[in-house]
Amino acid sequence: MTTRETKINLMGLSLPKMQAFFLELGEKPFRASQTLKWMHQRGVIDIDAMTDISKPLREKMKAVAEIRLPKITQEFRSVDGSCKWIVQVESGSSVEMVFIPEAGRGTLCISSQAGCILDCSFCATGKQGFNSNLTVAEIIGQLWWANEKLAGFGVKPAQEWSEDGKPAQNSRPVSNVVMMGMGEPLLNFDNVMDALTLMMEDQAYGLSKRRVTISTSGVVPAIDRLKDYTDASLAVSLHAPNDLLRNELVPINKKYPIKELLRSVSGYMDGLSDRRVPVIEYTLIAGVNDHRQHARELAQLLKDFPCKINLIPFNPFALSDYRRPSSTSISNFRQILHEAGYTVTVRTTRADDIGAACGQLVGEVGDNTRRSQRYRDAAEAQNEGSGKSGTAPEGTGKRFSKTDNLAVAVDRPAV
Ligand code: SAH
Ligand code: SF4
Repeated sequence: MTTRETKINLMGLSLPKMQAFFLELGEKPFRASQTLKWMHQRGVIDIDAMTDISKPLREKMKAVAEIRLPKITQEFRSVDGSCKWIVQVESGSSVEMVFIPEAGRGTLCISSQAGCILDCSFCATGKQGFNSNLTVAEIIGQLWWANEKLAGFGVKPAQEWSEDGKPAQNSRPVSNVVMMGMGEPLLNFDNVMDALTLMMEDQAYGLSKRRVTISTSGVVPAIDRLKDYTDASLAVSLHAPNDLLRNELVPINKKYPIKELLRSVSGYMDGLSDRRVPVIEYTLIAGVNDHRQHARELAQLLKDFPCKINLIPFNPFALSDYRRPSSTSISNFRQILHEAGYTVTVRTTRADDIGAACGQLVGEVGDNTRRSQRYRDAAEAQNEGSGKSGTAPEGTGKRFSKTDNLAVAVDRPAV
């Protein structure tokens, strides 16, 4: 007999996998879209409530399958409408997701991993080490929960989303999804691809490919094969205009340097059926990569690379000595790129009453590596050395703890 542990989780099945599931049961493939609609459009997670499926078939389904979502353990709502949820996944870790409403769109920032192995020098998630890849159900489950928590399935929200002036098919609060939460999406490739498929599937969430964005630090072999799996939009975390500096900030650059990364991204963009450009993300860190010369070098580097540039002023967190540049440095940097002909946006911080910025999310990761402990030890040693035992390193605000996620700020996503 099938035990609970081995039961198939229908929440994690894309349309083709759901069709295969029903074929295996000896049923017609159209049952797959029926089931997807129940779960992802009507929010029904009780198989017995799927009333246009016969009782015998529902029994057959229940014998081998179930619908499991990750758990929401905490919710934070900002006065400006932004929300953050703590999501507990089956590995025991917690990750975070954030919803940011703006005029004309509502963006959900989703996590793909509990922790991240890549350890970019400016990122709080990386400092936590790594625990687990999120399952398809845990990734798409974040979107399911956001819909449920924000407006409820079936409740037509007041706000209508439109694209190119036409009413969108989807009028739910979440119009855009960015894979900019915890983790490197392309290191959890298969699960992220299936989850993206569900986000864009008409029988499920039906989001436009222009409104679903993968953000990557540059896993080149994965970008090279991306076009065979998805046509979602792409954001690239560049953060430096040359390899020497990028090696320091984004260690994966030592393996896949800038030239290879840009070549790979161009390959993906060229393969899309419509004209879209990637967003280049550049976290501005005072005295590290925010000099005018860096801006000029960046303008030069990208001169033959169609893109938009999103500047993200660094958000400080415990365990980091980096600082956010002054508003003058930020606007000078922007101005140089603007004059060089680029479309440049600067993310603005908001909703610091609930605190949550993409890339700053920490959740609670049961670290499988020794990294989080090493960072804590190093901070401790630094504090002792400076005679400031009990406080965080200079410029970082406070000591790293599981509640640090309450002390950061929501950023407006780039796309
Ligand atoms: N792993 C993926 C997606 C998650 S990080 C990636 O690296 O692209 C998403 C974004 O958060 C990154 O582009 C990075 O610029 C940003 N980020 C990380 N730490 C940050 C910080 N401390 N301040 C501002 N932005 C940060
Ligand atoms: Fe990982 Fe992205 Fe953070 Fe780098 S910035 S450590 S790739 S989550």
